[in-house]
Amino acid sequence: MGSVMGFLLSILGGLIGFLLAIGIIILIIYFKIRSVVGKAQMKELGHAISNAKNLQMEAYSRDKHVVGMTSLLEPRIRHDFPEFNKDLLFSITEKNLRKIFNCIESKDISIVEDDQDMYYVIPHLEEQIEDMKSNKIEEKFDNIVFNKNAISAYSNDNGRATIKVSTSLSYYYYTNRKDKNVFSDVKKATRYTSEFVYVYDETKFESKQVAIMVHCKNCNAPIRNLGVSYCEYCMAPVERINLKAWKMASYKEDYN
Ligand SMILES: [Zn+2]
Repeated sequence: MGSVMGFLLSILGGLIGFLLAIGIIILIIYFKIRSVVGKAQMKELGHAISNAKNLQMEAYSRDKHVVGMTSLLEPRIRHDFPEFNKDLLFSITEKNLRKIFNCIESKDISIVEDDQDMYYVIPHLEEQIEDMKSNKIEEKFDNIVFNKNAISAYSNDNGRATIKVSTSLSYYYYTNRKDKNVFSDVKKATRYTSEFVYVYDETKFESKQVAIMVHCKNCNAPIRNLGVSYCEYCMAPVERINLKAWKMASYKEDYN
């Protein structure tokens, strides 16, 4: 028993000695820096560190600029789609992003399950929510305020046209994710890019284009031909979606 006690005491002694040595080293470094920098500057060094924190916080809450070429791209879109209305598209963008934040916060896909506007983004959103559930991730978006929208890209080929919308917005954000920078009581200003797709020629729009993946609600098999009314694997009826409309195909926060 005595030898065990002695052993433990020697470990404790060693530990205290080790901590003391570290303490002395820190003190030596502190005085060394102070002798080089001076007492007054030492205070400023402290300020600089808290300034860096303030700058980070300022960057976090500063309004982000939308990246857009709306005046250049809008005439091109209207040339191909005379009925195109950018304000309507922007309001759909905001409405969809709100729904997406809602789904993520509640980890519940049922809010958008039957939403035709969200048809293309549901599989991705579902995956994201499953991932959050298995990693016990929480995310909260409060006081969402949309700031500005712009069209940042437009392309038209192979039977489908694509528009990218850049959106600046702000919200109070809370999360336990380690990869996100969070100041919980500071409003976060950020930017999203959403992609909208309009399929005007289904015959040119073939399975090679995997950018949009729609799955059967019954058996989860991919539906390759968006024009079919039955799943080719389980024969369950597939709700025919109106392809001839701008539908959100992806969304991404592009400012961190
Ligand atoms: Zn099926």
